[in-house]
Amino acid sequence: MVTTHNLGFPRIGQRRELKFALENYWRGDSALNELEQQAAELRRQHWHQQSQLDWQPVGDFSFYDHVLDTSLLVGNLPKRTDKRLAETDRYFQAARGQSSKTLQQTPIAAAEMTKWFDTNYHYLVPEFDTDTQFELNAERLLSQYREAVSQGHQAKPVLLGPVSYLWLGKSKDESNKLDLLDALLPVYEQCLIALAEAGAEWVQIDEPILATELDQHWQHALSQAYFALHKTPVKLLLTTYFGPLRENLNLACELPTAGLHIDAVKALDEVIKVIDWLPPHKILSLGVIDGRNIWKADLSKLLNWLEPIHRRLQDRLWLAPSCSLLHVPVDLEQESGLDSDITNWLAFAVQKLQELALLADALNHGRDSIQADLTANRQAITSRQDSVKVHKASVQQRLAAVTDSMSQRQNPYSQRIDAQQQRFPLPLFPTTTIGSFPQTTAIRQSRLLYRKGELDLVSYRKAMQEQIQYAIKEQETLGLDVLVHGEAERNDMVEYFGEQLEGYAFTRFGWVQSYGSRCVKPPIIFGDIDRPKAMTLDWINYAQSLTDKPVKGMLTGPVTMLNWSFVRDDQPRSQTCLQLALAIRDEVLDLEKAGVGIIQIDEAALREGLPLRQQDWQHYLDWAVNCFRITANGVKDETQIHTHMCYSEFNDIIEAIAAMDADVITIETSRSDMELLDVFNAFDYPNEIGPGVYDIHSPNIPSIAEMQKLMEMAAQRIPPERLWVNPDCGLKTRQWAEVKPALKAMVDAARQLRQDAAA
Ligand code: GLN
Ligand code: ZN
Repeated sequence: MVTTHNLGFPRIGQRRELKFALENYWRGDSALNELEQQAAELRRQHWHQQSQLDWQPVGDFSFYDHVLDTSLLVGNLPKRTDKRLAETDRYFQAARGQSSKTLQQTPIAAAEMTKWFDTNYHYLVPEFDTDTQFELNAERLLSQYREAVSQGHQAKPVLLGPVSYLWLGKSKDESNKLDLLDALLPVYEQCLIALAEAGAEWVQIDEPILATELDQHWQHALSQAYFALHKTPVKLLLTTYFGPLRENLNLACELPTAGLHIDAVKALDEVIKVIDWLPPHKILSLGVIDGRNIWKADLSKLLNWLEPIHRRLQDRLWLAPSCSLLHVPVDLEQESGLDSDITNWLAFAVQKLQELALLADALNHGRDSIQADLTANRQAITSRQDSVKVHKASVQQRLAAVTDSMSQRQNPYSQRIDAQQQRFPLPLFPTTTIGSFPQTTAIRQSRLLYRKGELDLVSYRKAMQEQIQYAIKEQETLGLDVLVHGEAERNDMVEYFGEQLEGYAFTRFGWVQSYGSRCVKPPIIFGDIDRPKAMTLDWINYAQSLTDKPVKGMLTGPVTMLNWSFVRDDQPRSQTCLQLALAIRDEVLDLEKAGVGIIQIDEAALREGLPLRQQDWQHYLDWAVNCFRITANGVKDETQIHTHMCYSEFNDIIEAIAAMDADVITIETSRSDMELLDVFNAFDYPNEIGPGVYDIHSPNIPSIAEMQKLMEMAAQRIPPERLWVNPDCGLKTRQWAEVKPALKAMVDAARQLRQDAAA
């Protein structure tokens, strides 16, 4: 018999219940035990929704992030957290800089946050130093295990493996993270023993780094770890995902574990090789259902492929989604508003588990046992392939007519800068923001009412214009140099643009966790992309009519649109990206024609599209940068192009960033003490740059001195004439009460810098 299991289920709840529970608690509107109760209720639902599988994951649920959970599990929360706080509050302090509003606590610097492999999920970076010690703290995991068992589930604890845990962390001094493995392994051993004593048979242990390039030290660390953990009384399912194993394939097969899970979507070509190589006592879990995308699986095609594998492996074959379902929305059943054809092409977490159960039924009892489901599935697959909603001749023709000159500015930056300075005489260290201002209850309310049809277009526009007026007035009072309209009309930026483009579909509840309580609702690119009319022109024109200072046009770039959407799987991503680039280029040119002289094209997600292995990077960067250039570079010299990137550790892609040829780039840096700028010591970045000095992910208000210090550090690496002063990212998640003093301090810091430069 084939065994089915799941690697992880979305935590947030099908209506984002966890988000609201967390935010209530942080605001001080609920008590910790209420939050704990709501979390237990969510876990109960989630296990119930997975009950048709043979094994249910435990330990995948998290209040904020599973990497931070692992830090808690091994007694390695950042040292600066307040040890007198309750454990959960200390945990929130590590995540956010402070826990609940009602607690007396000094704010601290939150842990650094970065992308989880090539996804749009962010984890909190573990911190290490030479003195790091570990201590097992498994009570939370054990109690969740008992909770699942008491609800009648066959529970399989899930752990982030010790080697990936170290790999994901950062050494705060010069010490080598790998030196900590000897100290970490006994804690994992104790944890596995404790789980065995609680009754666990299988434990899923994730080592996603097996899908990355590992040097021999890391490979050796994996051997050392699993030879040590092998002695514990549980069966370990070594779990990899997000890509092929390539040079790590033999290692993954040979490590002494009871089973291996591989991503059979991204590493389809390796499956047979793994089967050949896997020792005969091991089970093989194939991740056959795509955990990173929302398309229905082609069940007959999968069965054609799986049946011989099943005959060969028999009981040794397990089936699962390719990775944790954290990266897809919860339940398609809630989506009553979607086009019915499109709905019929989709599968969310719950549907994916149904597909898995169907595959197991067909393998265990023959295809006849699921005949009706197979027929319906086939019909859905062919209707998508043949749909006129998907394929548009006009878009195809435009794509075929793209020329090289479309991606070239008329002149290099060194010449453009004069034209731009003449048009906008800005002071040294010009100040600006990244685009969005706080999304107040009033703003959300107006958008919601408008969406529901309870507010007419005229009243809605008036409400948004009032917000724009407010934002412009505040920015003028604060003394910022380049203004923004504030993005009140945008909920999520990708959604905002996607809704105005053809080829995009939108869900109502298709939320996916981005970090902590932050969720995004990635739209679905199902067909060829077209822009029927201008998307942002009216708002920017209106904002500009209110002020003499320049207002930036604010767009989202093609690569980010792509990377933050669920993308069609029937053509290469580069092709879909080029369609987006042409559509947004039209918007850039419309803005320019309307007299907008500064246009920001956000490419917040460019870096996260990088393939896991460096050997695959250049290919991606080539087409991604080309798409940005096609979008941006049709403008005249005197039009200034800005771009913005979040969390851009771009040391390793600096040449590609420079090749985008934006006049100004604003980036995230404040949490890393400008370390991210070290690259400019070695690489002479030719254009202007605004290293974010205000960490917008934390409610803390930065001081003038702090920001001045950061800019001085930046000025050691980049000539001051080419520096801008700005926050890390957009301010939509903050409150005006925080934003005003913070921006005031930022503007004051810039003034101080100008004075110092003049002295
Ligand atoms: N312009 C966007 C904003 O300010 C950028 C968001 C982002 O980088 N994620 O909200
Ligand atoms: Zn950003």
